[in-house]
Amino acid sequence: MKTEIIPLHEDGSKEEEAIIARGAEFIREGKLVVFPTETVYGLGGNALDAEAAKKIYAAKGRPSDNPLIIHIADIGDAEHYCETSDLFYRLACAFWPGPLTMIMKKKPCIPDSVTGGMDTVAVRLPSNPTANTLIRLAGVPIAAPSANLSGHPSPTTKEHVIFDLDGRVDMILAGNPADIGLESTVIKLEDDRVILLRPGGVTYEDLCTLLGKDHVTVDRIVLEKVTGDFKPISPGMKYRHYAPKAPVILLNGTEEAILAAMKEKQKTEPGAAFLIYDEDKPDFEGCTAVTIGPRNDPAMQAHRLFACLRAFDDMENVTVIYARIPGREGIGLAVYNRLAKAAGFTVQDV
Ligand code: AMP
Ligand code: MG
Repeated sequence: MKTEIIPLHEDGSKEEEAIIARGAEFIREGKLVVFPTETVYGLGGNALDAEAAKKIYAAKGRPSDNPLIIHIADIGDAEHYCETSDLFYRLACAFWPGPLTMIMKKKPCIPDSVTGGMDTVAVRLPSNPTANTLIRLAGVPIAAPSANLSGHPSPTTKEHVIFDLDGRVDMILAGNPADIGLESTVIKLEDDRVILLRPGGVTYEDLCTLLGKDHVTVDRIVLEKVTGDFKPISPGMKYRHYAPKAPVILLNGTEEAILAAMKEKQKTEPGAAFLIYDEDKPDFEGCTAVTIGPRNDPAMQAHRLFACLRAFDDMENVTVIYARIPGREGIGLAVYNRLAKAAGFTVQDV
């Protein structure tokens, strides 16, 4: 398939709106359009069209039991696609537009192929203006998983998208790097409480502040490896994700012990590569290392994590990647969750 790759400055100009309008037309015709959002790039198709959903799964190589998030342009649109509630409106008013996906009972207009056969649907209202314009002009909700090949880290830049999907989609709106850099927070709404299934830019603490701690549960899939016959609430969470080619190992210990262990590995393990803070650079001269950002800036670490994981794949002779276990406060929980998944939850105490 020939992919139209269209550069965008995302400057809000009339010229760019005309380009986005063509993307919207593609969506209505059942074609696939990649577009930027504030979380990561999305691979979009008409969420009311069962065939478009099938094309999305094929383009990504995604297992078809892993449901898609549908993206809308106005809070009021949610009524058409799912059973809303007072809880939904409280959350939507607090966090939309933004990086929060809510899972609710679906209405019949959403095809089973979009939800992997589940009777619920995941809905999000993105804040990125390009995404918002595309959805509004399409006039239909847009089903959009992350625009990477299944198993690769989610794409946070147009280069990642082109690398993974050139030739597999109809159009790529090649805009700016994603602001947040990690996928949306995913919660399931149940009566008066929510279950956190995937941490992201709307944090556990944000949810607790709005709803009260007793009304927010963190699903075990966020924090630990699940194996055997455990049936996750969210099918996608069981798949190995975000993985660079070399295995990732998380180091757990005091700051001094981790740095000492990393220095030892520099000497004894020739294939070792390291994910480090900007401040660590002097200790890693001449080593295979990628910097994720300043030690005390978890938002920057979130922003850069997936690009870092991809960078290791471009380096020669990397046989193992060592990284610190991130702190779990605020957006740190999302960084921890993605890195832990990349590592298959493999932790070495030092
Ligand atoms: P992605 O599309 O790559 O951002 O991933 C979306 C995530 O949301 C996947 O892990 C899905 O399994 C999850 N998800 C989407 N819809 C549902 C649903 N109806 N119930 C449970 N999890 C869902
Ligand atoms: Mg994904």
